[in-house]
Amino acid sequence: MNLILLGAPGAGKGTQAEIICEQFSIPSISTGNIIRESVKNGTELGLKAKSYMDSGELVPDAVVIGIIKERLAQDDCQNGFILDGFPRTIPQAEALDQMGVVIDRVVSIEVADEKIAARMSGRRVCSKCGASYHLEYKKPAKDGVCDACGGELIQRKDDAPETVIERLRVYHEQTEPLKDYYEKAGKLRLVEGQEQVADTTALTLAALKD
Ligand code: ADP
Ligand code: ZN
Repeated sequence: MNLILLGAPGAGKGTQAEIICEQFSIPSISTGNIIRESVKNGTELGLKAKSYMDSGELVPDAVVIGIIKERLAQDDCQNGFILDGFPRTIPQAEALDQMGVVIDRVVSIEVADEKIAARMSGRRVCSKCGASYHLEYKKPAKDGVCDACGGELIQRKDDAPETVIERLRVYHEQTEPLKDYYEKAGKLRLVEGQEQVADTTALTLAALKD
């Protein structure tokens, strides 16, 4: 099954992608994680992407399309995948179509902007492995320490309140039109983001089956 998770930054699509990919035994592909990894490693891609990311802007289409092409060509994607954070613009969606990638279902996790801002302030990521946590909704066993690798948990630079406002603006302007794009293709399902992660998962799984 080839799936896309859409949603505003902080709507919880990354968390859902991680849960669902385990249940279906398919990889979850986060362009955000791939780009952050490149920034950390100081690769050419990372150098190109960093300033966009830090200011809450999208990385240019050509760059992310290149990343996705390479990633989807790998063996582990042949039985399906979940895209978390791609496509984020109409040209990115068109590029997927042109690659001949057939998407089975697109789930958009809906959370109001006012709630997003509050959620983002509690978000933390592992500085070593990139795993994500939340001070309220997804606490690590030990404060400030990653359950998976023991790394230090930090706040992402682009989770600062001013940057979150810009990311929401970019989401509404450039990413939200994708709902129309996939609605027209008959592939879109909307899921209301819930307070509890497990409740959103249940709704998302139901949306994949209907
Ligand atoms: P979130 O979903 O919380 O916004 P991500 O980790 O998915 O965070 O993305 C972080 C940043 O990485 C984005 O703000 C953007 O700069 C860049 N990025 C990730 N995916 C894409 C994409 N498909 N197109 C352009 N930029 C992207
Ligand atoms: Zn970690």
